[in-house]
Amino acid sequence: MSEMSETSDIDSLLQRNQQLSQEIRRRVDQLSALNTVAAAVSQSLDLQITLQTALKAILKVIPVDSAGISLVDEAAGELVLRAQHGWRRDFVTQPMRIPLGKGMSGYVVANDEVLVTGDLAGDPRLAVPEFADEGVQAMALVPMHARGRVVGILSVMNHQPYHFGDDEISVLRVIADQVGVALDNARLYESVKEQSSRLEAILNSTGDAIIATDNHGIINLVNATAEHLFGLRRAELVGLPLRQAPLHPKLRAGLRRAMSESREANTVFEVPLDDGRFLSAIVSPVYSYQEPASDRQAEGWVMVVQDVTHLRQAEQTRVNFIRDAAHDLRNPLGVTMNALTMLREEFGEQKGCAEIVNIGLQGIHRMQTLIDSLLNLEHIESGVGLQYKEVDVRDLVERCVADIRPAVQQRQQTLVCEVPESLPLIQGDMNRLYRALMNLLSNAHKYTQEGGVITVRAYVRDEDLFIEVCDNGPGIPTEAQPRLFERFYRVPTLDQEVKGSGLGLAIVKSVVEQHGGRVFVQSRVGQGSVFGMAFPLSAQQGQSSAQTS
Ligand code: ADP
Repeated sequence: MSEMSETSDIDSLLQRNQQLSQEIRRRVDQLSALNTVAAAVSQSLDLQITLQTALKAILKVIPVDSAGISLVDEAAGELVLRAQHGWRRDFVTQPMRIPLGKGMSGYVVANDEVLVTGDLAGDPRLAVPEFADEGVQAMALVPMHARGRVVGILSVMNHQPYHFGDDEISVLRVIADQVGVALDNARLYESVKEQSSRLEAILNSTGDAIIATDNHGIINLVNATAEHLFGLRRAELVGLPLRQAPLHPKLRAGLRRAMSESREANTVFEVPLDDGRFLSAIVSPVYSYQEPASDRQAEGWVMVVQDVTHLRQAEQTRVNFIRDAAHDLRNPLGVTMNALTMLREEFGEQKGCAEIVNIGLQGIHRMQTLIDSLLNLEHIESGVGLQYKEVDVRDLVERCVADIRPAVQQRQQTLVCEVPESLPLIQGDMNRLYRALMNLLSNAHKYTQEGGVITVRAYVRDEDLFIEVCDNGPGIPTEAQPRLFERFYRVPTLDQEVKGSGLGLAIVKSVVEQHGGRVFVQSRVGQGSVFGMAFPLSAQQGQSSAQTS
């Protein structure tokens, strides 16, 4: 081998070596550009920062002059330039808009294909004539994807002729798709941010106090009305477990109790405060899916508290008025009743007379029943005639069940009784407790469809003895639930065929509160209702274990 050829071999080897190392350098640069874009995409939800980072990274690895990113605006039916780098003219401030389907970009979006072109001057496919002034001699347009759709175009341009290598197009494709994902994330983020600020505005403008907790009972949301109602600042509540929250002790205890009871439906209860105010609270479990499944844990609770003092005051005024009216009506009604009875005795023989008088007597009888219920409620509330004795709850439930069973059977309903053998005795008035439980049972019977199931349960949990009546009837809308125990309140949407006075639940509430207890309701429209009475065992004296058969 001659000295000459040896030198040229070494030269070509060196040259080859240099080419290889340049190639490696290029690949490393490309990889690092990809990494830079990937990092920007995963770290920033700010769209402009991500787009700019991507453009700079591209220009570092592909030796061209300028690059741009256009996004599809589906609502406007346009492709809009959102970021540019290295262009002579600013096409972003007054964005370049190309109707979808037009020009080269239209082709790229419609066919989901990369388009590489040379000199643009005079190219009939140019949709924006001003773009010809950029003096572009080579251009590549690459579609960007997100969720399987073309969401924009990444374009790179050079003022001199340039040949885009296959590997460069591959890098552009990867970067384009990363930007597409970033864009999608940023859009999602923006829409979530917008929704959350809208929700926050709603939460803060509502007249109801709202507190939410996570599934450990740690408060994570307090709205402006709650701050105002409780005289506390958000910062004093958020992050605290509800059990330590500086709320009124009765309200706090009620909320905590309701959280343990509200597994599948709302619990509604009322709290009379020592300062004369009345608060009404609805506690609802939060599930990420629409329907709670029995095996699913609530992810938290939302508590809506309203100051209903004005409603209670209005109710009291109404009650006083009705009570006075009932008293005043009683005597004239009695007189009318007697007169009609005498009339029937005297002239009953005459044609049609007895019939007409009977209609009058029936009407008067109905009025008397209503007045009796009203005065009964007044009598119960006054506490006169209360006789506290030890009451065996199992005995109470069995009596009521036996008395309601014939009516239940008539409607082919199933009556289930779940009362343990042994329950603590409570101090109470058997007759009034009987009346209260019968009211709940007869409501369940009245409002539940034929063939429905009614369950009466008694059990002890924590410090309370519970008696509950559950049905699989029509259920009650949430907005009606806080008013159920008001006098004369009847749920307007329910089938008005069912007769009633709207006094039954007011009587239940009155009886239960006289026993130091509380009433509550849990209900879901279309699924059924649970009406419950809870008697605190700590308030009961002389409780002992009753062994009943
Ligand atoms: P009423 O005499 O109307 O039954 P209540 O005070 O007992 O009066 O009940 C008030 C209202 O509550 C009823 O009119 C009815 O709309 C609703 N309600 C009570 N119990 C049930 C139940 N088990 N299922 C569905 N709705 C009920």
